[in-house]
Amino acid sequence: HQAEEAASRLQPATTTDGHTLEIAANVNRADQVPRALEQGAEGVGLMRTEFLFLERDHVPGEDEQFGVYQAMVQALGGRPLIVRTLDIGGDKQVPHLNLPAEENPFLGVRGARLCLQRDDLLLPQLRALVRAAQTGPLSIMFPMISTVDEVRRLKARLAEVQRALGLTGTAIPVGIMIEVPSAARLADRLAPHVDFFSIGTNDLTQYTLAVDRQHPQLAGMADSLHPAVLRLVADTVTGARRHGRWVGVCGGLAGEPLGAALLAGLGVQELSMSVGDLGAIKALLRRHGLAELQDLARQALDMDDGEQVRALGARLRSAAE
Ligand code: PEP
Ligand code: MG
Repeated sequence: HQAEEAASRLQPATTTDGHTLEIAANVNRADQVPRALEQGAEGVGLMRTEFLFLERDHVPGEDEQFGVYQAMVQALGGRPLIVRTLDIGGDKQVPHLNLPAEENPFLGVRGARLCLQRDDLLLPQLRALVRAAQTGPLSIMFPMISTVDEVRRLKARLAEVQRALGLTGTAIPVGIMIEVPSAARLADRLAPHVDFFSIGTNDLTQYTLAVDRQHPQLAGMADSLHPAVLRLVADTVTGARRHGRWVGVCGGLAGEPLGAALLAGLGVQELSMSVGDLGAIKALLRRHGLAELQDLARQALDMDDGEQVRALGARLRSAAE
């Protein structure tokens, strides 16, 4: 099993019928990139920038952020990098920002909503990202999108920053996280505004099933394999395809064997996961045909709950077979 993984993790994740998925890692720091590449990552599909704020006692300035993003671009040596703008709020609280307490932080001023209220946070980050994008491939991704208008306004902000810096020559791909049911259901309306989607299955699960992702008593209910979540993934892919956009997944489901198999079957083209999951997921995809995974996904969409979906997992081949 381990030998198979080691042999295949540097090979592309090509299914037995010749379809290749892009496999990326969720990495926040440049010094973690060498290990991610060693484990088979082909790029970084999610760099969470909250850590820049969480591990300091101050808001990092434009130059400080630029240094961090540029180091990441360099470490990747030309491979793709997706940097997500600040996703503060909900479970990610930054004491030194002194944000007002909220009754329901997960349904409050979180992610893109906060950035749209706070130019002092958004603009230095966008300036740093636009400058870092001059040094190598870098895509910008906005979290917690729930309306089309948010995307329009964030893109207008980005365009203003590019103009102000005189850096309009480099086209920077822009994507959004799909992690709220409204965004998944409106994927066909959102797609014309962006270059790609990345599905955040952690939040999409909590918002679809109305289960706090950290609730100690409800952990078993926060099931990303629930058909209600999988149907929203299917909606997202359908909406994106209508406009020729690609869809990735950077939530935890991408790093679970059955999850990755179903996501591939639903038409997702990129999977971004924790470094430790890369080898097993690549090996699994290389053991199956896409047609077979599509069939599995079709069946999963017609189940009652995550338990029934999990039972389908018995049809996946293990390395020993
Ligand atoms: C997600 O919600 O699935 C996701 C990738 O974002 P985070 O876990 O950082 O909220
Ligand atoms: Mg999220």
